[in-house]
Amino acid sequence: MVTNRKIYILEPYFRNSDIMVEQLVVLERKVKKSFQLAREDITSLGNSISKLYEQIEKLSAEQQTLADQLKAVKDMKQQKAQKTTYFLGSKETKKFHMPECVFAKNIKKGSKILFPTKNKAISKGYAPCVCLKR
Ligand SMILES: [Zn+2]
Repeated sequence: MVTNRKIYILEPYFRNSDIMVEQLVVLERKVKKSFQLAREDITSLGNSISKLYEQIEKLSAEQQTLADQLKAVKDMKQQKAQKTTYFLGSKETKKFHMPECVFAKNIKKGSKILFPTKNKAISKGYAPCVCLKR
């Protein structure tokens, strides 16, 4: 609302004060409406930002879960790799295998030879079985 004091102050500048008051009332309404709209925009922006933060939190939680799963898979792979500490060769076939290979299990006792690494077996003239090519 336009107070009487304000009208009094403006009167010397505008002789026709009735029209001036009307204009001021309209102007006041427009200014109030603008502020209201701005406040609504700010509130809506605030809500959007909150939602974005929620999504970011969700995504980082998912990322953490995925990172944990990836680490678990890597650990499993590493454990599996560490399990195979030797290779089994057959003096008869001149081939070498993973210890768990079916062919390795069929090697006769007298024909068995252990290799600590693939390169060692290859350097002794042994060829890798298909179990090592997977
Ligand atoms: Zn094999």
